[in-house]
Amino acid sequence: MASESPDSTAELYAQHVARNYGAPPLTLVRGQGSKVWDAVGKCYLDFSSGIAVNALGHCHPVWVKRVQEQAAKLVHVSNLYRNEPQGQLAASLAKRCGPGRVIFCNSGAEANEGLLKLARLHGLKKSAVEGACIGVIVAERAFHGRTFGGMSATPQEKIQKGFRPLLSGFSAAPLNDIAAWDKIIDAKTTAAVLLETIQGEGGVFPADPQFLRDLQKICRERNVLLLIDEIQCGIGRTGKFFAFEYAGIKPDAIAMAKGLGGGFPIGAIWMAPPCDELFQAGSHGTTFGGGALAASAALAVLEVIEDEKLIERVNHQVPVWHAALRALVAMRPDLVKEIRGTGYMIGVVLSVDPVPLVTALREAGLLTVPAGGVAIRLLPPLTASAEELAESVEILGRVFRGWKAA
Ligand SMILES: *Cc1c(COP(=O)(O)O)cnc(C)c1O
Repeated sequence: MASESPDSTAELYAQHVARNYGAPPLTLVRGQGSKVWDAVGKCYLDFSSGIAVNALGHCHPVWVKRVQEQAAKLVHVSNLYRNEPQGQLAASLAKRCGPGRVIFCNSGAEANEGLLKLARLHGLKKSAVEGACIGVIVAERAFHGRTFGGMSATPQEKIQKGFRPLLSGFSAAPLNDIAAWDKIIDAKTTAAVLLETIQGEGGVFPADPQFLRDLQKICRERNVLLLIDEIQCGIGRTGKFFAFEYAGIKPDAIAMAKGLGGGFPIGAIWMAPPCDELFQAGSHGTTFGGGALAASAALAVLEVIEDEKLIERVNHQVPVWHAALRALVAMRPDLVKEIRGTGYMIGVVLSVDPVPLVTALREAGLLTVPAGGVAIRLLPPLTASAEELAESVEILGRVFRGWKAA
């Protein structure tokens, strides 16, 4: 059986790769733009984008060129020395975020670890006693990563189970219920609030702009840091560079990762003054973070977003795409309850378990991601064409139409 398989990678996975991702259904071998091909040559429209990572789609020519050139020039020197791309990337992010400072890392969870360390340093400044002010308030259903800090900030049994004791000091409040946050945020013991602007893994739940503004006001009054996790919703995905821009708030620090490198692992935290002075020589660090190759990949992403006006393009295409998606609710109201989300971060909310439908969509040629046990997540690359967006709705419509009522 093993040697007869047309997909020997599946065999290697079955024997040697850890089982934490279950058994992935496909081996993908090649990608171009919004399309990927599996090991037997079948083509898929990829609206999973590697979970909101491939902002430019697969193998964008400018991105490929920048990465190839940098790989042939200088890849890694550690942070004991400067490298040119890191300096340029920090400056490019500062242009988007405002005056402040950036620290680089390699993933989303690591960026959030950095935010949590900032919270501790801020708490120490507030109380002058280590451990006295370590409270971090997060939202119910939040997802902030799989490290110990990330898990501690992720109030979900399925994430935390088996790994306790976690870090102390975390409490959760319901998203968009400002009265609950007002009650739980304590000027003495709360160091920070940590929040996704749009919850991704939790099921595509956006924070209301007014909730964010009220929360900012409470944080300022009580000297509590407002830490925003834009790891999934940031880098143009919602039709603004950061999703929180819709609310007009000014976070004390922002975590980025996923879309930033366009597929190359990189994370970053941008910190506003005076928060940007909390990390001093020796207080945080990483061997790989902000390496020349990773920074070049991210620079290429920011350059292409600008040059190809990708954010304008998202905003231009959203009305037609969203209207077509909403028509799916009208077609199968028993199956599709709601279209939720902003821009290219969409949850198709179902009345049934999304996983079998994600499978059926994949078999029909569309890659999507389940979210929160309630929704199918659509995360097209920012480069997706009008035809590809229409094709996604066509495939969804075909699969939904033929789906037997529960
Ligand atoms: C994916 C994600 C993370 C974790 O990022 P990793 O790169 O997987 O560590 C954290 N926060 C949010 C909102 C995410 O979507």
